[in-house]
Amino acid sequence: MTHEDLWRDFPKTLPAFEARFPDEASCRAYLIEVRWGGRPRCDACSCERVWTNARGLWVCSSCDHQTSLTAGTPLHRTRKPLKQWFRAIWEMMTRRTGISGKDLQRLMGFGSYETAWTWLHKLRACLVRPQREPLRGSVQVDEGYLGGKAPGHERGRSTQGKAVILVAAEPGGRFRIEHSPDATQESLGSFLRRTTEPGSVLLTDGGTGYTTKAIAGRGHIAEKQTHDQRAASDAQQYCHWALSNLKRWWLGTHHGAISDKHLQAYLDEFTFRANRRTTDGVGRIAARALIGVMQRRPMPYKSLVKTIKPYRHYQPTATDGEQEARG
Ligand SMILES: [Zn+2]
Repeated sequence: MTHEDLWRDFPKTLPAFEARFPDEASCRAYLIEVRWGGRPRCDACSCERVWTNARGLWVCSSCDHQTSLTAGTPLHRTRKPLKQWFRAIWEMMTRRTGISGKDLQRLMGFGSYETAWTWLHKLRACLVRPQREPLRGSVQVDEGYLGGKAPGHERGRSTQGKAVILVAAEPGGRFRIEHSPDATQESLGSFLRRTTEPGSVLLTDGGTGYTTKAIAGRGHIAEKQTHDQRAASDAQQYCHWALSNLKRWWLGTHHGAISDKHLQAYLDEFTFRANRRTTDGVGRIAARALIGVMQRRPMPYKSLVKTIKPYRHYQPTATDGEQEARG
């Protein structure tokens, strides 16, 4: 089955999900479809003549290499059953409000909060496809702010204790949401070049950051808004929708306690769900996440806590290039 078929075929509701994935075997079968289209191959030489040993590994008839279902993915060496990962992904992706680490820990009965935290962060890191397409057509653009008041949280380089959030939105369609060091023309330019297609037309509030340089060859309609106009027509209505929902999610599910260092990962989760808000059958949102997980590289705990870059447009290092080259 293709990934599109697997997405379409995924259970849409909780009862259907529980019936479909009652045990390890059913979860494994699904992931074998995701990874190899149902026919396991040798990781080393791509040979399809493999046999299964007692430990559930595929042994290659040509080169003797042993391939595991999760090797080379973020699920590699997980000590927990796949069934639990499926459930965690289901809980995280199908709820309109996501789930906090504390709630996931209680729900799954994990001994430590760190386990739940690590799981959620691994999953967040799988949600953005590296090659996703930029927005096009008429694109609303706006900036907003998160936080500033809660004491004791890491704030990093933010404006007056607030994190700057940049939003681009296709009317009725997709969002791109990023944590930015500021809203200067350099930051806006970087954001717009990466998230919108040349030739699109940007609808902004005409803020000072939207200079010719920042707009970078895209069309630009700047509409200065007064309070009265805002009530009648809102040229950035999708951005405003995203920003107010983001704020509610951030305060509600996460109690405003997200450090600057990890904020982008949370924004990626929010964006992923927002982009699929009209999907027919919530279960399919979980399917997309599950397929994303099997396409990503392993993520050691250290890389989740120590080598985080708070902003997406950081200067790439040699190691990043290497990681990209590996896919
Ligand atoms: Zn082989």
